[in-house]
Formats: sequence, C-alpha cells, structure tokens
Amino acid sequence: MNYLGIDLGGTNIKGGVVNEAGEILREASRPTHVKNGPEAIADGIAALIRELEQGETFGGVGLGCPGTVDDESGEVLCAFNLNLIRYDMRTAIEKRTGYRIRLGNDANVAALAEAAVGAGKGAHSVVVLTLGTGVGCGVVLEGKMLTGYTGAASELGHMVIREDGPQCTCGRKGCFEVYSSATALIRMTTEAMAQYPDSAMHRIAEESGGVDGRTAFTAKARGDHAGAEVVRTYVKFLAAGVTNVINIFFPEVIAFSGGVANQGEALLAPLREEVRRQEFGTAYVKKHTRLIQCTLGYQAGVIGAALLAKD
Ligand SMILES: [Zn+2]
Repeated sequence: MNYLGIDLGGTNIKGGVVNEAGEILREASRPTHVKNGPEAIADGIAALIRELEQGETFGGVGLGCPGTVDDESGEVLCAFNLNLIRYDMRTAIEKRTGYRIRLGNDANVAALAEAAVGAGKGAHSVVVLTLGTGVGCGVVLEGKMLTGYTGAASELGHMVIREDGPQCTCGRKGCFEVYSSATALIRMTTEAMAQYPDSAMHRIAEESGGVDGRTAFTAKARGDHAGAEVVRTYVKFLAAGVTNVINIFFPEVIAFSGGVANQGEALLAPLREEVRRQEFGTAYVKKHTRLIQCTLGYQAGVIGAALLAKD
C-alpha cells in the first residue's frame, strides 16, 4: 500500500506518493498562493491529491505544515507565513477529497523521515537541526515524533543560549537561532568584514555576488584569519545549543540540514571537537551522539508526511 505525503510551504505545495519502504514513486507540486487565503490553500492541496491519485487509493494522506499544528484536533493553530490561524485543515481536506489527513509540523515530519529512512536509519533516537533562515528542529525518540501536549514541542531553536543576546523573531533575546542560523552566520561574516578590510572574505563575497553562508568557510579554507575566526565563533555558539540538545535527549544521532550543513566536514569536524569539550560526563559515557549530515534533502518533508499517515 502507498501513502501520500504533502509538504506545505510558503511558496509551493509539494506532494509525493511514497511506498512502504519510504521511497517516492511519483511527485508533483503547485504554487501555494498564500494571498488567496486559507480556502484557496486547501483547494490547492486537494487538487494536488487528485493529480497524484491516478486511480490509486492511498493508505493515508499526511500533511507537513510550518508553524504549530495539532494532529489531535486536525487544526493548524498558527502558521504565520501561510496566514493560517486556528484553521481546521483536516475538515477542509476531508470535505474536498474524502481523505482524513494526519497533520505534522514540517520540521518534525522531516525528522521522522531522516530517522526512518535517512541519516538516522536504524538509530535509537534522532534529532534533526536545520540551519537555514532560522533553526528548525525535529525530535524522534524510539521511532516516535515528539510533538508535546498539543503539537508545539521541539522548538529547540528558541532556547536562550545567551541572556540579553540579539533579538529573536519569537520575542526573546539570545535564542540558539539568532546565533546558529544561516542568517546569524551571514551577520557574523558581515561584521567581521567591516572589522577586517584586508580579509579575503571581501573578494570571495564579490566573486559569488554577495555575502552568504559559505563566505567565511571559503575564506578559512584559503587560510584567511578573519574567516577562520568567524567559523570558530559560529561553531562555538552552535556547539552550545547542540550540547544542550545532547544533555536533554542524549540522542544517538543529531543530523544537520539546511544551507550551512552543506559545508559537511568543514562544519562537523570542528563542531564535534567543541561539543566534546562542552558535553556533560563525556569521560564516562561509552558511546557518543553522532553528528552527521542529513541525506534526504528536500524530499524529507514529503516522505515524513507520508510516514506520518502510515503511522
Ligand atoms: Zn527565539
């Protein structure tokens, strides 16, 4: 039996038919058209379901959505970038298609996919951290997605790692996210460039059409002192949050996705070293949390939503 996974984003709605093994058999996407309102979004999801059906009856349909969702009531409680507030998505989709969807937060279902068939396959417990515009997070403990009381758990990006640090979008200051997102890395890079006019980062940024999450890493690889310093500072903050995650969950695997994670070992090797320094009781545990890269890429959201429907 196959399952349908849908990844609802601010720009596109992506869908895929996924088999029991977690493989995508066919996929499709269409624009979200947020400005047309919630009912139009539901219309788009229903149209995508019909497009992918092709005479097949699915074992279930799962939907990954940004923001806070409640799988128990079937509501999207708040997804600000989609203008969905307390929207009964389950009823809306059931009315249109007959399918009673399962609902999950997009980062949570992506973590479910990485845990089941991606970077964390076979692991006891997996945390996925997405280092993008913000810091997304999903926690899967013994195969089960951690959602909390009404779906709002796993917001690790909003734990404060430095009191009175820079302002976060959530209202607090000094969150993990304001130090460890790609946005934070770009801010640190820009600040260092202003401080070091001779740094190789200036030429590197010029060559690639502007400062981005790669600028400091490229400069470090070319032996640039200021670039290396930016990477060191970024990794230090990232390690603070990652160590907190380890101290709370002690997962077997923490897998990284998002733009900054594309650095691979250039990021992970110094991160492991710094985390080892900060980790609690590190001298006594026999096995350590493995810090690795995610493997499913953009497909994680669709696969995870389908796996949720299978659950
Ligand atoms: Zn925050």
